[in-house]
Amino acid sequence: MADKRDEWKSTIDTTRPSIARAYDVVLNGKDNFEVDRAFVAEIVKVVPEIYDVATYNRQILGRGVRFLSSQGITQFIDLGSGLPTVENTHQVAQRANPESRVVYVDNDPMVLAHGRALLAENDRTAVVTSDLRDPAAILADPAVKELIDFDRPVGVMLVGILHHLHDDENPRGIVEAYMAAVPPGSYLFITHFCASTQDSRDAEKKFLALLGTGRFRTAEEITAFFDGFELLEPGVVPLPLWRPDEPVPAELTAGQQLMYGGIARKN
Ligand code: SAM
Repeated sequence: MADKRDEWKSTIDTTRPSIARAYDVVLNGKDNFEVDRAFVAEIVKVVPEIYDVATYNRQILGRGVRFLSSQGITQFIDLGSGLPTVENTHQVAQRANPESRVVYVDNDPMVLAHGRALLAENDRTAVVTSDLRDPAAILADPAVKELIDFDRPVGVMLVGILHHLHDDENPRGIVEAYMAAVPPGSYLFITHFCASTQDSRDAEKKFLALLGTGRFRTAEEITAFFDGFELLEPGVVPLPLWRPDEPVPAELTAGQQLMYGGIARKN
């Protein structure tokens, strides 16, 4: 008889790259298939630094969560959270405050399987397998309602995900819907592929041809996601420039400018 824990295996598609698994490849993880590695090999041809870009994104995720924790945030909704890796949101947040609660949301079945294993011992975290494009469904999810107190500030995280949404999927409206559900004192944390250079436009073409999702946006377009909120210093900037732990060289490489990010406060 099939082991219940292995049910997710029947729902995964190994004929096409998955965003979560391809990201796992560039983070040197083990939860990926040949089709994902072949996709990354194609991306490397146009973005040789793609492995570094993933690292910059994980590093800002850590700095951002630490910053939110330092502002008193103990509840996080991590949308498009990805496969568990090192320094996941709950590990960073619970190191700062062991009471911190984290709901991970991702629509990839492997994220659920691996996330559940990781979180089995942790009753202040949950993984919800849902499509983040349906904020009403996510916000009504029993796991979200159980862990998140919507009368207290929440860190809403859309890290490395909005560039997977096309304009006609209403990414701006999706951001607004999540932010409307959380009280003043909450924060919005976004990182996003940025179409700022020829290199980034070449990368975008390759991503879209192979994945068929979303688009890169300009720094102005990424900044517009924060409209209505107090965008905190240093604004929307290349990832290594957002509140770095160590001095950053004056000249950034193409890979260091491929993604931008920022954090804003709802007042
Ligand atoms: N947030 C993590 C980080 O920055 O390290 C992971 C980012 S990963 C590039 C994007 C994740 O979003 C993938 O795990 C993918 O499965 C998930 N994703 C893509 N579209 C989604 C959707 N419509 N709903 C929920 N998750 C989605």
